[in-house]
Parts: sequence; C-alpha cells; structure tokens
Amino acid sequence: MTKKIRHVLGISGGKDSAALAIYLKQQNRVPDMEYFFCDTGVELPEVYTFLNKLEVYLGKPIKRLGEEVNFFQHLKKHDEMLPLATRRWCTKDMKLDPLEKFIGADEAITYVGIRSDEFREGYMSHGGNIKAVYPFIEDGLVREDIFNLLRETVGIPEYYEWRSRSGCFFCFFQRHEEWIGLHDRHPKLFQQAVDMEKKANEEFKDLKSRFSWIRGISLEELLERREEILANSQKRKNQSKKDTRSWQEILIEDGQDDEEQACTICSL
Ligand code: SF4
Repeated sequence: MTKKIRHVLGISGGKDSAALAIYLKQQNRVPDMEYFFCDTGVELPEVYTFLNKLEVYLGKPIKRLGEEVNFFQHLKKHDEMLPLATRRWCTKDMKLDPLEKFIGADEAITYVGIRSDEFREGYMSHGGNIKAVYPFIEDGLVREDIFNLLRETVGIPEYYEWRSRSGCFFCFFQRHEEWIGLHDRHPKLFQQAVDMEKKANEEFKDLKSRFSWIRGISLEELLERREEILANSQKRKNQSKKDTRSWQEILIEDGQDDEEQACTICSL
C-alpha cells in the first residue's frame, strides 16, 4: 500500500500564509489540508485573535505546535542568553524544530504563501521528505490579490496598523517606531521587554558589550527619543506622498511590511 502524503500549511500569523489558506479553501483544492501554527507563547495578542478568526473561517483547527515548551523554558536551556539576529535560536527551537517534529518521517507537501511578485525562499526541510509548493507563484497572485482575499473574508490582521510583521512581541527585527507602537498599544509587553533587557545585562555584566534588543540603544533610551523617532517615521511617509489614505490602503499600496528582513517561517 502506498503511504499517504500529508498536506500541510503553516500559518505564521502574517497575511500571506493566511491568504493562502483562504485561497485554497475557497477552491476546495486540498480538502485534507492540515493547518499548523508554531506558537512561541510570546506572540502579539493580535496574532492570537487573528488565528481564532481564521480558524472559524477555515472550519478546521489550526494545530498549535510547540506549546508544551514556552519561550522562557527555551531561554533557560540557552543559559538565559536572549536571542538576537546574530544568535537566532528562537527560530530554530520554536519554529523549525516543532515543524520537523510535526511532520516526522512522513512524506508531506507544504504549501507556502510566497507571491509571484517577490523573491523569497520558503523553509526547506533537510530530511528530503517535505516538498514545498507555491500556489500563489503558480497562479500569478500578487500583493494586492492577497489583501483582497483578506479584506473579503477575515480582514487584515490588526497589528499591521503599527507593525510590519507578525511574531514575538520582542522580535529584534522590529523598527524603532514599532517598538514605540508596542509601548503605546501593549505597555505591559513593552515593560516586559525592558525588564528582559535589564536582567540580561545584570546577569552578564562581565561581558564587554551590553545586551540590547536594538543595536547600540536600550529600550528606555529609545523611549527618550520617542518624538524624534516618530517625527522621522512621519517624515519618511510624507516624503512619499501627502497621505489621506487609511493604514490599510498605505499597507497595500506601499508595501511597508519589510518582508525581506524576517524569515518566512516567522512572518510569511
Ligand atoms: S518572530 Fe523574531 S523573536 Fe520570534 S522566533 Fe521569529 S525571529 Fe525570533
């Protein structure tokens, strides 16, 4: 008997993977699709709200992977060394490993939401048993199509109003103004990130360089520069055009989600 091939689609909390799930569901293209989400336990609250909404639309559960070991337990395993772009154990431990465990040795096709108007690579398993397919590329769907799919169904995830991608609340790929956005919208989470930064510096005070989520500046120092950061961010926006558009329109037309900086598994 031939072994059954599994069909899986990883939902990151970002717009593209959600739109792909919606797109394939509308066409009933893969009836036995398994949806999954690698949960770090420290995602933005808006991501969890969006996942719940999406789950209702898809009419199937989105399996949460990695819930049994949360970020702080992983941190302990890494001797309390917080992750950074140069020390990115978070993606491996909390996104890639749970996915590999979920698939195991099964043959699987993974559906990846990379669009036909971008140049990114999806995650490739080293085991060779997972084959990636790219329906948006095959069908020629571009950025605007993705937003249309979302607007007509579950809506655009709310965090896009102030942040360019999904992921952990303290993600070091955030822009300066996004940290300010975190401070304003989720003050407790911002304070938690400040405390994590401080604790790391107390624990590793013998190290030559101090720890900061943003290179060269602590979050408290960042807050002191709030006006300047917001003014610069506004200036950049104004330079492009005098804007009377809504945040959704700006997002769709200007492409402010910095997709190239983050890995696909965290934010696609
Ligand atoms: S979202 Fe950022 S902090 Fe979270 S796992 Fe991905 S890279 Fe790491």
